[in-house]
Amino acid sequence: MPEPQDARKDLEAELDFDPEALRAKYRAERERRIRPDGSRQYQQLAGEFGAYDEDPHADREFTREPLHDRVEAVIVGGGFGGLLAGARLRQAGVREIRVVEKGGDFGGTWYWNRYPGIHCDIESYIYLPLLEELGYVPRWKYAPGEEIREHARAVARHFGLYDHACFQTQVTELRWDDAESEWIVATDRGDRMRARYVIVSSGTLSEAKLPGIPGIETFRGHTFHTSRWDYDYTGGDANGGLTGLADKRVALIGTGATAIQVVPHLGADAKRVYVFQRTPSSVDVRGNRPTDPQWAKSLEPGWQRRRRENFLKVVTGVRADEDLVDDAWTSTARLQEKLIPTNAYADVPAEERELAYEIADFQKMNELRARVEATVEEAETAERLKPWYRYMCKRPTFSDSYLQTFNRPGVTLVDTADTHGVQRITENAVVVGDREYEVDCIIFATGFEVGVSGVLSGRLPVYGRGGADLLRTWMSGGPRTLHGFYSRGFPNLFHLGPLQNASAVNYVHILDEQATHVAEVIAQARKWQTRCVEPTAESQDAWVATIRRKAADLYRFQAECTPGYYNNEGRPRERSESYGDGPVAFHELLRRWRSEGGLREVLAEDEA
Ligand code: NDP
Repeated sequence: MPEPQDARKDLEAELDFDPEALRAKYRAERERRIRPDGSRQYQQLAGEFGAYDEDPHADREFTREPLHDRVEAVIVGGGFGGLLAGARLRQAGVREIRVVEKGGDFGGTWYWNRYPGIHCDIESYIYLPLLEELGYVPRWKYAPGEEIREHARAVARHFGLYDHACFQTQVTELRWDDAESEWIVATDRGDRMRARYVIVSSGTLSEAKLPGIPGIETFRGHTFHTSRWDYDYTGGDANGGLTGLADKRVALIGTGATAIQVVPHLGADAKRVYVFQRTPSSVDVRGNRPTDPQWAKSLEPGWQRRRRENFLKVVTGVRADEDLVDDAWTSTARLQEKLIPTNAYADVPAEERELAYEIADFQKMNELRARVEATVEEAETAERLKPWYRYMCKRPTFSDSYLQTFNRPGVTLVDTADTHGVQRITENAVVVGDREYEVDCIIFATGFEVGVSGVLSGRLPVYGRGGADLLRTWMSGGPRTLHGFYSRGFPNLFHLGPLQNASAVNYVHILDEQATHVAEVIAQARKWQTRCVEPTAESQDAWVATIRRKAADLYRFQAECTPGYYNNEGRPRERSESYGDGPVAFHELLRRWRSEGGLREVLAEDEA
């Protein structure tokens, strides 16, 4: 029997690349990008940058009288989480549902983000929720943003969620009224509405951010963030045709998943484009195609649930007999363990498993680097577009036109890795090293604050029984919930989103499971006529202990990654707060909990 070290050497010797050289290259590329200010390098769209946050789609003159009424349920957020909560509550028989939403309509991410080229890169047949309920089959394998936004609106119409909705309204405080056993919901429009149940689904990538580049406020040309695309200035629409840019020199800052979709349109329509890149994205094949009408006709009842569950199993390493979606997400399933832990391969010895992962990762990234080389004509530009890090260090992207855009004469890639990003902005230029790039317009594709719900970010203060401050309660020792949904001391308050639960790349599926669970709990509370849904101290403690016990150790992987929002800009958190056995097991656990008497843990009428 060979020693493990020998087995490792034998395996590595068979490869057609040198893993040690790649490891060294990855380390060096990471070192180039580490900044001492980590996530503090960014700034919010507030104060002097508040104009960046203005809603280009809503009526700015809109006013209404404050509401002082009572509904059964308030849902904070009108994205897919809020819509699914509304739909599932409606199915459970709740009639008075009010969605409160900052934007001027439903859609969440898809309301705000309307930049040219916008598509969802998760397959539409599993991403768009409630397709069978609405009798709809998306037109493309990967849907454009407009179709998704329209579907969100159709869901709202179908389930009557426009009836009591409040748009252009932000919830500013939730306060529990002990005497009445209900929440008082305060908003920035002076509302003080009362609700028995409150469901917070305020999103995870919903607060756009700007880089803290010196001089950003001095720029005299036009500027905006991709999540507030200004078509009045650029002309055109999400399909392109940006005629307003025909005589403009445009700077695009950032090369993440958003920029990958925007750049081909800027390249096609603007006079001059400078793409300022700090870290290249991995860009895999897209292969979008229209829906085959025969296939759509052949779908049998239950098809969407089956397809969604099949995808979830495949991408999280749970045995499945077939791969229905069959795309770049499913073919890289094993690599995704480093983002969404599942313990799926726990029976393989750790060292063997890590080496196998790493080699598969090198092979995938070699393939993507070779794609850059084969596509981009200019050798130096091709070299700069090659990603040198492990696959799941950054959000993978997909495009069949992004890399090709750098072959256009008016498009220049400006590499900013050695200067830790764009160094300065002046009245009329973007500065990197000793060069000033004069431009008419700067577009920030610089992303969003990550993973923070309104509650955790402190934007939405919550006061529970006896006036207890939820964020403060959680700040000492971390959040304490049962299944991520509710916390002791804060009755009838439900959280949707990533919080002591399990996640997956098809996040709308995760939200649907969460919404379904919450709606069933509320339905039971109504049936039993229990005023308060609130976990017992024992059940909450047990869940927090389970989360901690099962937490996967992703620290080493993330610490070796190039900086980005996945690893808190190079400073990964020591502890994962997600359920280590993964989403398939988590959903099964919730189903069992509901059917095997778990409800008693939250419906005990206990005057704490
Ligand atoms: P990201 O956070 O992914 O990208 C921000 C970009 O800005 C990065 O390339 C970053 O570089 C760059 N950047 C930041 N500061 C500077 C600076 N000072 N100088 C130069 N460059 C800078 O934001 P996105 O909007 O692209 O994507 C956010 C998320 O939204 C995605 O990860 C994905 O989850 C989601 N999304 C999903 C899509 C879908 O189809 N489902 C489509 C689009 C987005 P660096 O990498 O070096 O930090």
